[in-house]
Amino acid sequence: MIEKTNVVIIGGGIQGASIAYNLTDMDISDVVLLEKGELGSGSTGKTSAVIRQHYSNEVTIKMSMKSRIIFENFLEEVGERVKFVKTGLLICVPEEEIKNLEGNVSLQRSLGLDVDVITPGEASRLQPGINVNESMGFAFEQSAGYSEPYELIQAYIKRAKENGARIITNTPVKGIKTRDGSVKSVVTDRFEVETKVVVNAAGPWTRDVGRMVGVELPIEPVSLKVGIFQPTVRYDENRPVVLDMPNGVYFRPETGGLVLAGGGKEEEESINPDDYDDGVSFDYISDLSEKMIQRVFLFKDAGYVRGWTGIDGAPPDWHPILGEVPGLEGFICAAGFSGHGFKLAPVVGRLISELIVDGKTSTLDISPLSVERFKTGELLGSRYVTLKYVG
Ligand SMILES: Cc1cc2nc3c(=O)[nH]c(=O)nc-3n(C[C@H](O)[C@H](O)[C@H](O)COP(=O)(O)OP(=O)(O)OC[C@H]3O[C@@H](n4cnc5c(N)ncnc54)[C@H](O)[C@@H]3O)c2cc1C
Repeated sequence: MIEKTNVVIIGGGIQGASIAYNLTDMDISDVVLLEKGELGSGSTGKTSAVIRQHYSNEVTIKMSMKSRIIFENFLEEVGERVKFVKTGLLICVPEEEIKNLEGNVSLQRSLGLDVDVITPGEASRLQPGINVNESMGFAFEQSAGYSEPYELIQAYIKRAKENGARIITNTPVKGIKTRDGSVKSVVTDRFEVETKVVVNAAGPWTRDVGRMVGVELPIEPVSLKVGIFQPTVRYDENRPVVLDMPNGVYFRPETGGLVLAGGGKEEEESINPDDYDDGVSFDYISDLSEKMIQRVFLFKDAGYVRGWTGIDGAPPDWHPILGEVPGLEGFICAAGFSGHGFKLAPVVGRLISELIVDGKTSTLDISPLSVERFKTGELLGSRYVTLKYVG
């Protein structure tokens, strides 16, 4: 079938799709994307699609800011329409995290982000009916919001195909051949394709793909859960995304006057991505809804609509691994997104493409995200102590 190509991308999730588009936009049209199932059938199809920039370190803040700008200008940047509802993000923290919140806001403001520490009164104006207490801390990030995963992935795939990329689904990669410390070809049941560059964008399966070349990538598959609720009064789609750290949950408006909520109990469990129950337990939903009602009384009689468990890959510091894997020329990792990858995908596609085309990134320095950090101990982590996945 295909004999030779410039780049093989393994994984048709949002990262693979964004990388395929960005490569072809940078005039590398000879790109093959291999997906073992359907496009978006991994983590991407289960995402909450929250777009925020509230992170604790410079590289992630900068990446999420660049990505958000692409979301806002998607039609001009990529040539397709993708939903982006700009609602802002209301961050609520317990007393013991107030110093960390202030530290994060100060770092984010120094990088040009439109975020402010606000009073409980201001929080109540932004989210009417919210239960605030004077010991809590609040901040508001104006440019945050949410999007729609299938629109985003379809947009990237459509544009990548128009630019010449070959997108092949239902084709698992079974092996990767190497020669003299460089990648040589990618093997499937139906064909073998020669290439000098392989991008491992296999989401929760990244570790398995790494093992095909004898590389042990420290990325563990983890579970993340979501529930959809229908309040008795239609929930306005412009209400802010709320990150409720005291309760360990988040919620945002969902199409049709609904509310999408996630986090809470049973989060972050290690899981087998090939064999897991993608439903949610009654206990999980009761706990989630109790926490939502505790924060916003309006949710009291909300009906449960549906819920699911999704998966993502998480390194020990809950930040992605981006860049070439040392010791194997042409083997690039774009994975380990730890529940943050949807919002980062537009910039990740650009960064990985710059790395492949120019041998270095120009949009921003991604060296802090190298896999080497697990050897040197320069981990990224979060300033927050109560919820590590906030980042
Ligand atoms: C419940 C939930 C809520 C989330 N909420 C948010 C949020 O609000 N905001 C946010 O920014 N992020 C969020 N995330 C995280 C985000 O969805 C992920 O980080 C992102 O989708 C990861 O994309 P990906 O392309 O790396 O992985 P995936 O979408 O998993 O794609 C990887 C693909 O690789 C394929 N693959 C694997 N092995 C092979 C192989 N051998 N051969 C060929 N193909 C292979 C898989 O089939 C899969 O389709 C959430 C995730 C979940 C589960």
